[in-house]
Amino acid sequence: MAKIAINIATGSLQKDEVIVGIDLGTSNSLVAIIHPETGKPVALKEHDTEGKPSSSLVPSVIHFLDSGDVIVGTEAKKYLVSKPLQTIFSAKRLMGKSFTDVKDHRDQYSFKIINDNKESLVKVQVGEKFYSPVDFGALILKELKKRAEHILKTPVNKAVITVPAYFNDAQRQGTRDAGKLAGLDVLRIINEPTAASLAYGIGLHKNENKTIAVYDLGGGTFDISILRITDGVFEVLSTNGDTYLGGDDMDMAIVRYWQSQLHISNETLHENKVLAQSLRLQAEEAKKILSTQQAFKTKIEAGELTLSKEIFNELIKPLVTKTIDCCSKALKDAMLSKGEIESVVLVGGSTRVPLVKEMVSEFFGKPVNDSMHPDEVVALGAAIQADILAGNNREVLLLDITPLSLGIETSGGLMDVLIPRNSKIPSGAARQYTTQIDGQANMRISVYQGERDLVKDNRKLAEFNLTGIPGMPAGLAKVEVKFIINADGILKVSAKELRSGVAQEIEIKPQYGITDEEVEKMLMDSVTHAKEDIALRALTEAKTEGEQLLKTTERFLQKNADHLLPEELTNTAAAMQALQLSVTMDDKDLIHQKIEELNKISRPYAERIMDNAIANAMKGKTIG
Ligand code: ADP
Ligand code: MG
Repeated sequence: MAKIAINIATGSLQKDEVIVGIDLGTSNSLVAIIHPETGKPVALKEHDTEGKPSSSLVPSVIHFLDSGDVIVGTEAKKYLVSKPLQTIFSAKRLMGKSFTDVKDHRDQYSFKIINDNKESLVKVQVGEKFYSPVDFGALILKELKKRAEHILKTPVNKAVITVPAYFNDAQRQGTRDAGKLAGLDVLRIINEPTAASLAYGIGLHKNENKTIAVYDLGGGTFDISILRITDGVFEVLSTNGDTYLGGDDMDMAIVRYWQSQLHISNETLHENKVLAQSLRLQAEEAKKILSTQQAFKTKIEAGELTLSKEIFNELIKPLVTKTIDCCSKALKDAMLSKGEIESVVLVGGSTRVPLVKEMVSEFFGKPVNDSMHPDEVVALGAAIQADILAGNNREVLLLDITPLSLGIETSGGLMDVLIPRNSKIPSGAARQYTTQIDGQANMRISVYQGERDLVKDNRKLAEFNLTGIPGMPAGLAKVEVKFIINADGILKVSAKELRSGVAQEIEIKPQYGITDEEVEKMLMDSVTHAKEDIALRALTEAKTEGEQLLKTTERFLQKNADHLLPEELTNTAAAMQALQLSVTMDDKDLIHQKIEELNKISRPYAERIMDNAIANAMKGKTIG
């Protein structure tokens, strides 16, 4: 399906707009897209003047310079130790949290977390200013957007952003808001394990049923998620983990080891920020080297730093064991045995550590999926999701949206939309309608798909009759029409008269036989005809309302003439005649004016008699 978007400002169609996938991580963030030529997801990288690519990862670190400027990424990371009060890291852990939520971990942050109001969102003070976690998210996303635009040389306005599976509504909404603040239209927030799974091609095919474990060990957090995939629907069976466990702890373990080797006290380290910084950086370097080599050796001012793989493994074993315990718990919560896990996906930079791979593989008793860059898979999966949203992958169902609006026909042939286009599925909506004629026993429900205001310009999907509505005056029946699209993309339309309980239901497969070109044409038409549609809709509505009022008034007079004063009768007759004339003249404003005039005359006596009518109807009697 072609990518189509309507530019609200110009009314024109934009084609092939890029939608990026963003992994907004605790330690690192990055952007990925589907490569327009290969069709494969790629992480975006800057290239230096010699054309050498840099890393795709942007450290999720923000530094506020004294000048008031803000820097994000690798440059900002350099200030972590020297300017702790002005350098924000791991801000993702604060997303959607109150001070009460984070106070126990306050000493883990070197920046200033404010204790102002315990229940509202936590605030961080930098210099004279206060920032929320959403502000920090926005600053990182802004940097990512800028970077992506620089690399792609095109504006980037739409994104899919990933969040941990355990993120609650507040945290998801916070992430969405951060995107909005950064000038991004966040089309979808998706779970990181789901994205990782998609990157490995798991869950991309119809009729694929699988239970998988996604093991994500990042810089400062560990997450294990058990997912069940049924026909493209991802269900999170359980999650477990530790928001304060990750690669940083491995680095700290190495620093402590070197401290003891070189007899460096905690006090010295606390005072000598330069030494602390270099030990931390060397520790991370050593860890990374040991992922592929047997030993690490370097020299700094304080002395020689060495680390063998055996010692490193010994240092980190307790950390990895903790993660394995979490895996056991997650399985238990999902009520599954290890053997029932069909695939294990490794995510997060720290899963490059061989001991981690070994222990995870041993625990689940099967080889792990580790063929892709673990620190890029989430972003790559987000890019695949973005591509699906753009309509480029037809097989996936759950991750789909309604390409055209769905609604029913109401008086005057108007389209009344219940589920607007681009709604995600599964989705549902309900609305109440009423009868037009006294004693009306049937109601025709006609279901349409399209963007035009008149149903005749849209596509009819189905039609059915709600029959057996007990006799009651026009306007008293309450018919609830409900649309439900399930995860399979099947639309169910039901109608129920609420007073009597009479109900009817049909099932419709939406978009059957509809081609990309048709969808595109329907959208195009809705734009080109928007003005005349609006005018026509307004006139049709006015005419329907006028005719409706004439009918009701006439019926009313037939039944209640005796109760009216002679003067009321003549005035009403005159006003009705004027309204009748305005309806035939196709003048919307005139119709409205005449409706108002007639209403003004009839209101006093209508109210007088109405109470009686309603009282009778409630007794279950038909009036007349
Ligand atoms: P997050 O998802 O928390 O933002 P990442 O997935 O980017 O984090 O993982 C970052 C962590 O991965 C850091 O602790 C980093 O040191 C670690 N890491 C990156 N590359 C390697 C490597 N080659 N060997 C071991 N650890 C690595
Ligand atoms: Mg991550």
